[in-house]
Amino acid sequence: MAKIISEDIDHVLFTEEQIEARCKELAQQIEKDYEERHIQPLVVGLLKGSIPFMAELIKYFKHPIEIDFISVSSYQGTESSGDVRINKDLDLSSRDKNVLIVEDIVDTGRTLKEVKQLFYNKGAHDVKVVALLDKPDRRLVDIQADFIGFTIPDEFVVGYGLDYNQCYRNLPYIGVLKNEIYNS
Ligand code: 5GP
Repeated sequence: MAKIISEDIDHVLFTEEQIEARCKELAQQIEKDYEERHIQPLVVGLLKGSIPFMAELIKYFKHPIEIDFISVSSYQGTESSGDVRINKDLDLSSRDKNVLIVEDIVDTGRTLKEVKQLFYNKGAHDVKVVALLDKPDRRLVDIQADFIGFTIPDEFVVGYGLDYNQCYRNLPYIGVLKNEIYNS
């Protein structure tokens, strides 16, 4: 019998209820921002970590939005902006659109910096970012998400889209793994 993944969690940082409540607040904040600028977003999820967050977030938008997904990986050892490998591109065009990137977590900030530049290279009019989690202590490049769910200390977290070796993405909460999992 396969293991029960919740048994690998040492402690929960944010419960499903806390995340849902924060997603509702974030959606309201984001809609207000776009409304004030008289524009509508093309909401783009960065695969795969953004899936549960994006699914929860978009439920609370009251006005029309478009959604799409992109999957990228960074080229190792390059510092240049926008230099990412696209594993799965958007289905829609982002030219002249107001792109809202949905990211699971901002850590060093490298991914976000490159993906933001990628959308400007594709001709987007405006690019903003919403991240479920932010780890500012780990930042190596000067970049900030425009909307942030929760700020966390320098700790490796899983669940709600976030994985360890492609596991734990389907946990409905965010938690920290037991130490023994890394040694097994
Ligand atoms: P960055 O380019 O900001 O260093 O990295 C962002 C990516 O690293 C995230 O999209 C995520 O896939 C991964 N990452 C960073 N911190 C964590 C973490 O605490 N837990 C997990 N599961 N992934 C993380």
